[in-house]
Amino acid sequence: MKRMAVLGATGSIGQSTLDLVACHSEQFRVSVLTAHRQVEPMLALCTEFRPSLVVMTDPEAATRLRQALKGQAWAGGIEVADGPAALTECVSRDDVDMVVAGIVGAAGLSAAIAAARHGKTILLANKEALVMAGALMVNAAREGGATVLPIDSEHNAIFQCLGEQYRCFSTPAGVTRLLLTASGGPFRTWAKDQIFGATVREAITHPNWSMGKKISVDSATMMNKGLELIEAHWLFAMPESRIDVVIHPQSVVHSMVEFADGSTLAQLGAPDMRTPIACAMSWPTRIVTPVSRLDWTAQRQLDFEPPDHDRFPSLSLARDSLRSGGSASAVMNAANEVAVAAFLEERIRFGHIFEVVSDTLEALSGDATTVPESVEALLAMDVRARDHALAQCERKRL
Ligand code: NAD
Ligand code: MG
Repeated sequence: MKRMAVLGATGSIGQSTLDLVACHSEQFRVSVLTAHRQVEPMLALCTEFRPSLVVMTDPEAATRLRQALKGQAWAGGIEVADGPAALTECVSRDDVDMVVAGIVGAAGLSAAIAAARHGKTILLANKEALVMAGALMVNAAREGGATVLPIDSEHNAIFQCLGEQYRCFSTPAGVTRLLLTASGGPFRTWAKDQIFGATVREAITHPNWSMGKKISVDSATMMNKGLELIEAHWLFAMPESRIDVVIHPQSVVHSMVEFADGSTLAQLGAPDMRTPIACAMSWPTRIVTPVSRLDWTAQRQLDFEPPDHDRFPSLSLARDSLRSGGSASAVMNAANEVAVAAFLEERIRFGHIFEVVSDTLEALSGDATTVPESVEALLAMDVRARDHALAQCERKRL
């Protein structure tokens, strides 16, 4: 029995994970569930999965959940904790073997680092944690003896192509290049000025994947692929110059690995996160999933094209931030989170997201050159970047 903590249980990754747990309750048990403030969905999850501990980071939401659980005969054994410290602490429990890092953004960083320090198996979706704090995550995992298994579909594809060669944070022998595929998002064929004024609804309607709002906007700007480039750099200890991005609109090939002998291996499947999550949950074996299968008897076309850096400049920005080193990627991530939130609240236009992020990176470039030695130092930089980005959003306010 593998005992799990599902962080971000009410989100898209959390739902997909719990869907698989429900299918395989003989192999997986949920010890801990966490969410920010979604009380009703969490109550439904408690009813179904009976965790030992629930963490609501929002204290007011925790109070409402405690209230709702009170008087339910089955809920007696469920403890409800609240606040960010409880989130960080919950991953180190003895009844947790596996931590699903499914929180969106910087909010998931401290828990991911704590899980690494405590030597847990981490199923990583929260790419922002690696983008912000790659070096700190690597050190924490090495010290704690943790294993990180990627569930982001591209990185999971690479993980599958590497097979037994995979060791998190080590360069796999004989690999010459990683090829991250990207759908191109909803604006792949749009003109530049049309993209600039895209609405929230247009930006969060992804052609192939159903995901949370923040990552959907990141897919539309293609910052998601920029974050994934940085994620791949840390996860597979691969220099940025040996990671390419390829546009593949069908989202069937989830990524590829090129080897020294000229072979290229790819992993294919329907665009459904339950496949990469199942792969990591059951590793090194496999479990059955309800994911639909590709029909190879039907006519099918797989297209590949280079990314358009003029219409989607975020990708180059991410590459530059990785080249700059220090805390540049953390600054970029913080500014992006602020700008995406402002766009989702219709305070700025879609095209402003890139402007806010690149302006913040430029403004803080002088101070972002050193690698932060602690999470605290990193978070201080994160706050500065957020302040700058917020001021930029105010200036552009609609
Ligand atoms: P989502 O918005 O659907 O869910 C986010 C979860 O995090 C929710 O449970 C929410 O309660 C929790 N959360 C939000 N803010 C929080 C805070 N301040 N403190 C504590 N918890 C908080 O997001 P998602 O689409 O599931 O994405 C989660 C992560 O997985 C992201 O990093 C994303 O990039 C990555 N990812 C998602 C997908 C996907 O298909 N959805 C695919 C690959 C990678
Ligand atoms: Mg991905």
